[in-house]
Order: sequence, then C-alpha cells, then structure tokens
Amino acid sequence: MLRIQSLTKTYKTGDKALVDVSFDLPKGQVVGLIGPSGAGKSTLIRCINRLVEPTSGKVLLNDLDVTSLGTGELRRARRRIGMIFQEYALVERLTVMENVLSGRLGYVPFWRSFTRRFPPADIARAFRLLDRVGLSAHVDKRADALSGGQRQRVGIARALEQEPELLLIDEPTASLDPKTSRQIMRLIVEICREDGLPAIINIHDVVLAQQFADRIIGLQAGRVVFDGAPADLTEEA
Ligand code: ADP
Ligand code: ADP
Repeated sequence: MLRIQSLTKTYKTGDKALVDVSFDLPKGQVVGLIGPSGAGKSTLIRCINRLVEPTSGKVLLNDLDVTSLGTGELRRARRRIGMIFQEYALVERLTVMENVLSGRLGYVPFWRSFTRRFPPADIARAFRLLDRVGLSAHVDKRADALSGGQRQRVGIARALEQEPELLLIDEPTASLDPKTSRQIMRLIVEICREDGLPAIINIHDVVLAQQFADRIIGLQAGRVVFDGAPADLTEEA
C-alpha cells in the first residue's frame, strides 16, 4: 500500500506546487490523477520517487518511509517503483527483449547482445511478461521498428520486469490514437488487478480516466479538489 501524508512542495521560485496532499492507495487500485496544466500532477509523481524533494510530508510504500532514505537506500527503493512514460523511453537500437531485460538491470548495458548473459530463468520470465502484454511475436524486433502502442507495451513489460510494488505512470496515452489509448489503459488496469499492484496514472484525458480508473484524484493549484469514484466526478478539473 502507498500512503501519502501531508505532502507539500514549494519550489525555490516560490511556486506552491503541492499543498498538504494526503491519500492512501490500496493494493490493486488504479488512480487517475487529473487536473489542469500546472496543477501539480508531475510534481506529485516526482515527489513519490523523489526525483523532486518534497518540502514536507511523508511518502510510505508498504513498510518503507521513502522520504527518509539516504542516496544509496533511495536507489534500491526506486527499484520498487515501476515507471511508465509518455514517450516510452525505450532504447531504439535494442530489441524488445533487451529493453525489457534492462528493466531488471536498472540500467542499459553498453555491450552488444547482452541477452545471452542473462540466466535462462530471467529470459523465460521476460518472455512471459512479453506474452502478457501481447508482444510475444515481436521479441527480437528493434524498438525503433514498433508502432506507438507496441512501444508502450514494451514500456509496461519493462516496468513489470523489476517486480515493482507501485506503478507511476505519466501520460501513457498522450502519443497514441484513441483506440490504442483504450487498449493500453485496459491492459494497465487488468495487470494491476491481477497483480494487486497499485498505480497512479497522470492522465490528461478525463474521459479515459473515468472509463478505466478505479478512483479519480483531481488536483488544482496543488490541492486535492476531488477524490472519489469516477462516476461521482462532475465538473471538476
Ligand atoms: P502539472 O503536472 O499538473 O502540469 P506541475 O507539477 O508540472 O503541474 O507544476 C505545478 C506547479 O509547479 C506549476 O506552477 C509549475 O510552474 C511549478 N513548477 C513545476 N516544476 C517546477 C520547477 N522545477 N521549478 C519551479 N516551479 C516548478
Ligand atoms: P558482442 O556480443 O556484440 O560480440 P560482447 O557482448 O561480447 O559483444 O561484448 C562487447 C564488449 O562489452 C566487450 O568489450 C566486452 O568486454 C564488454 N562486456 C561484456 N560484458 C560486460 C560486462 N558484464 N560488464 C562490462 N563490460 C562487458
């Protein structure tokens, strides 16, 4: 479970990006994080994995107080948080399989053909993940030969490869057409349910958020202005 307690971020510029944000996220729940540009959505996501240092407040991930960790511990803690990005952040010259395995390493090796250096059990696991996201026919294709939807599927498999306890997902469908967007959202929600994985999806498209998320959190000027069931969302955000 993820617990956010009174999280506040004031940037050096004086911008109050987050003001006293609190919520709990149980296992398997998918939150759609919505709100106008500048509301604090990216800041919230970045405070959770401490790419941005919160000014005050706490982030608790299961037994771990993420906000209190030193640099070395933080690196290990980040391995427990899977990230999925709008622009996929794949390594173009690597194959689908290699991109997924780099999720396990936490970095991209500089040497070529590194797949065969992994134990067979790791390869088998990556195959299962790729099958799960519908890419078993494309394992050996280079990332730059894939469609947008396929690329995002690789992004999802790579995040799962690190066996995360939380998924943070930044605008996963912003570069995709409406039909592919729905397929990707459906896949994410399905996986989170099956694995009991909590997820926060920063999502611009309110209709898509309402259609797929279990819960909507609306931010405005750094504050939570809505937190509830998608069906209860009216004119917010
Ligand atoms: P959103 O993701 O909802 O568009 P952001 O988290 O990017 O919102 O921004 C929230 C507020 O914090 C905005 O007022 C923005 O200008 C400000 N902000 C974001 N990043 C920085 C930064 N690195 N330095 C100063 N202010 C920032
Ligand atoms: P290829 O498979 O393309 O022939 P290799 O995988 O054999 O290339 O290795 C390419 C380069 O990367 C070599 O110089 C090798 O010494 C180096 N290398 C291979 N494995 C590692 C590793 N685990 N750590 C650091 N360097 C490595």
